Formats: sequence, C-alpha cells, structure tokens
Amino acid sequence: MIEPVLAIHGGAGAITRAQITPEIQRDYEEALRAVLAGGERVLAGGGSALDAVTEAVLLLEECPLFNAGHGSVFTRTAEHELDASIMDGRTLGCGAVANIKVIRNPVLAARAVMERSPHVFLVGEGAEAFACDAGLERVEPSFFSTPARRDQLRLAQESGVETIVLDHDGHRDVMTARAPLDESRKMGTVGAVALDGCGNLAAATSTGGLTNKWPGRVGDSPVIGSGCYARNATCAVSTTGKGEAFIRAQAAHDVSAMMEYAGMSLSQAADRMVFHKLPPLDGAGGLIAVDRSGNVVMPFNTEGMYRGSVVVGRPAFVGIYR
Ligand code: ASP
Repeated sequence: MIEPVLAIHGGAGAITRAQITPEIQRDYEEALRAVLAGGERVLAGGGSALDAVTEAVLLLEECPLFNAGHGSVFTRTAEHELDASIMDGRTLGCGAVANIKVIRNPVLAARAVMERSPHVFLVGEGAEAFACDAGLERVEPSFFSTPARRDQLRLAQESGVETIVLDHDGHRDVMTARAPLDESRKMGTVGAVALDGCGNLAAATSTGGLTNKWPGRVGDSPVIGSGCYARNATCAVSTTGKGEAFIRAQAAHDVSAMMEYAGMSLSQAADRMVFHKLPPLDGAGGLIAVDRSGNVVMPFNTEGMYRGSVVVGRPAFVGIYR
C-alpha cells in the first residue's frame, strides 16, 4: 500500500538582515501549511499526483507572498512575464508556458498545453490565446502587481539597471523587513512534487522569474528537464534558483538520470546536484523531489528555502531556514 506524499517550495535564498518578527515568520509558515493542506486534500480524496501538484501550485500562485501569479516580480520594463510547467511521471506527458502576461494561473495553462494541445511548450501571445480558448481566466496585467514588488524593482534599478535580482536574495529592501528570507536575494519560484496512491509521480513549477530581468528572458522554471521533471521509474523534481545555471545543469532531469544510470538514491542524486554540480555554475538555489517509494528530499545551497511536505494523514512539516 502506497502512502501518498506531497512536497512544496516557495523559493530559496538568503536570510533577511532585518529583524524578523515571529508574526511574519508565522505568516509564511501558515501560508505553506495552507497550501500543503489543499494539496493533501486532493491526494486524500484519491486524486492523482498530477491533480495534487496542480492544486498546490495554483494556491501558491494565488498567494502574494510568493513570486508566482499574483505577487510576481517585475521585468526591467515594469511588466510581468510569468512561466510555468507541469509533468506527469506516468506518461512523461508535459506542458509548459512562458512569457505569460494576462492568464491568471500559468500552471493551469501549462496543464492545458499538456492535455489539450499537440505541443509541449507555448509562449507569449500564442500561449495566451490558447489558454483563453481553453477557458482559463484572463486578467489585466496589473492583477499580478503588488506595491512591494514595485519597490523591489525600484531598488534593483537604483543599484544599477544591470542588477538582475533573485527574488529572496540581496540588498536591503522594502520587503526585507516583511519576509524571513531577504526578498532581494531569494529565488522566487514555487513548485510542488507528489506521489499518489497509485504510485504515480508528478511535478509542477511556476514563477515570475527574476526582478529586473530582460523582457523576453526565460529561466529554467518552464523548461522541462531543468525546472521540472517527473518519471515514475525514478522521481519528480521541482527547482528554484538562478535559472540560467539550472538550465546549464539540466538540473531536474539530471537528478532522475543519476538515479537511473548511476544507481544513486534520491538523496544522493539531489545532493550531488545542489551541492556539487550547481555551485560551480553560480547555481544558487535548491530543489524538492520525491521518489516512487515516497522519500522526500529538499536540499538547498542558500541560507533558506520556503518548503514543506506531508504524508497524507500525518502531521505536515514546514521550514524556512536550515
Ligand atoms: N528559477 C527562476 C528563474 O530563473 C527564479 C527563481 O527560482 O527564483 O526564473
């Protein structure tokens, strides 16, 4: 009998330098717990891993504390360009979207690409037109904006227009005083991985990308094999970090490949990626992963990563720091 498992992340990064109050920390932990509870309900009701990761990432997109959907960061031209991906470990079916500006939940668009198009990756206006045709909710671009993100862009640009900022990472800024991880030095993707009662694995990832990124820039999050990967025989993986490095490392797929070809355990493969392969590529960040036996790992090479996991019916774990 397989015990269904769900793990989530809300980005990795440096611990804030400002005084963080227990209340603020609690807000983040409660948000993570609420997302876990939503995904757990799906699995407890006999839902698939695919449905559980879709629900968890949708809830993370809706939460303004995390850099995906509502609350996404700004590009250098003060727009939002959102990316998302999803993969079904049973079939290797996958879908992804990039450069989304008006679709409320990019993860639903990625899922629609997987299930309702002959393709795996749609970008820009074509992706948006397809998502609208698929019945997904369209919003004004300003729906994604929050005052805190606008301040974050202003501060990044004040420190030089070439400064491209990982979401919970960096210099002191306005959100720093309101978040446990330093908002200007944190990677701000969200993601989920799950194992369901039928032994199927799935992964999903969604992001606003990097503050002050170039218009048109696409990171690892929507790139299958880099920011997201799932294969029933090995594992499901969702990453967060400096997308350029995660693409070079083919991070998510390589964890699976190390298990498949080198016979590594999930934890050996994930640690090899996060602590040995990514650092030489300037690959700050982390990942969450689950294997077909339900083992969960959540390694990160930054000071913290918003994360949580739950085995259905048992107490959930949430964490921010090491
Ligand atoms: N990986 C994301 C990207 O490069 C950013 C992040 O995880 O914060 O777009």
